[in-house]
Amino acid sequence: MMEFTLRNDELYCEDVPLAEIAEKIGTPCFVYSTAALLKAYEDLDRAFSGVEHLICFSVKSNGNLAVLSLLSRHGAGMDIVSRGELFRSLKAGVPAERIVYSGVGKTREEIRYALESGILSFNVESLPELEALDREAGLLGKRAPVSLRINPDVESHTHEYTATGKKENKFGIPYAGALQAYAQAAGYRNLEIRGIDTHIGSQITSFEPFIQAFRKIADLFNTLRNKGFDLQFCDIGGGLGIAYRDETPLTAEQYASAVRPILEPLGCRIILEPGRFISGNAGVLLTRVIHFKQTGVRNFAVVDAGMNDLIRPSLYGAYHEILPVHANGGPEVKMDVVGPICESGDWLAKDRQLPKLKEGDLLCVNSAGAYSYTMSSNYNSRPRGAEVLVDGRKYRVVRRAETYDDLIRGEEV
Ligand SMILES: *Cc1c(COP(=O)(O)O)cnc(C)c1O
Repeated sequence: MMEFTLRNDELYCEDVPLAEIAEKIGTPCFVYSTAALLKAYEDLDRAFSGVEHLICFSVKSNGNLAVLSLLSRHGAGMDIVSRGELFRSLKAGVPAERIVYSGVGKTREEIRYALESGILSFNVESLPELEALDREAGLLGKRAPVSLRINPDVESHTHEYTATGKKENKFGIPYAGALQAYAQAAGYRNLEIRGIDTHIGSQITSFEPFIQAFRKIADLFNTLRNKGFDLQFCDIGGGLGIAYRDETPLTAEQYASAVRPILEPLGCRIILEPGRFISGNAGVLLTRVIHFKQTGVRNFAVVDAGMNDLIRPSLYGAYHEILPVHANGGPEVKMDVVGPICESGDWLAKDRQLPKLKEGDLLCVNSAGAYSYTMSSNYNSRPRGAEVLVDGRKYRVVRRAETYDDLIRGEEV
């Protein structure tokens, strides 16, 4: 969280006091740092310098148009998983030839839209998808660019909901069936086989799962080339973890030095699909205390952001560091930080030592740049807050807060 610092006992994002944003824009609200987004992107880009590569940012981690546009202007492509994410990416000005499309359930209508847009590749996850893609391409008189997402069956030591590279998971084509799937793909007239793809999970903090997976993928790549497949790229997915608490995630440099020796001999373009690594620690959630409530058994800071704004604690039991925006130095007490939603699972933090809080105090929930706004909802009919992008001393609202009219848009009595 390098761009979020304490100055004179007050939290800043770059050169802007977070309290000023909360005052002017309101809470809850998400604040992103331009410098942090670019630093993570550029670290990874630099770590792969000397080998032809394309960094396709995972739009599902943070899909704000301003974020996509910023990264795109610095050379990034996008990894998308739906028509909606393609729509967003194109609106943000991302060139279609830098977009790869993953996902186990692409509908025909989504496939057509992506074919018409001219994306770089469909990461195909099943044989029925291959067939559907061939048919839709034929109907449009196009050839669909294809890479097959191969499930390498490796253990990625992450939360069971974010592991995607075990053979029990729904993702990709089983490793054992990969050669046959390529052979089948080669038989379709309207497909152009361009590459190979994998993605083994998210929030991975050690080399081993990546190395195991990429060795298997590299073997397959070589076998396919020997069989005459003209593979132009190897897409290694995302999954690089970040520090939420006391994890020691891989740096871009460490990751690259571990995987480059496996990938470089392939002599092809490398595609990466990082999401969390770029956006996770580039954002925070600002929230205000509504009440400080003591029940005799526990203390609760009830705040104006809930599981509808940030579902990661409820969904994964995830840890997010929470800091007072003004460090008042008062005595600390143990408390849960909870939202206003009518669910006991609506909590942001449990058993935290924080200064005794009172109504109106501001809290900063760290590491909320990835899988936070994008997973938010209107549960309990709560309008979502704004998203703000800071750049040096300046900041701007890159998505206004929702209004009550937004809440009922499209509804009829
Ligand atoms: C979610 C996802 C990513 C990004 O994962 P991170 O852990 O955020 O890097 C990349 N590729 C695919 C196919 C995904 O589903």
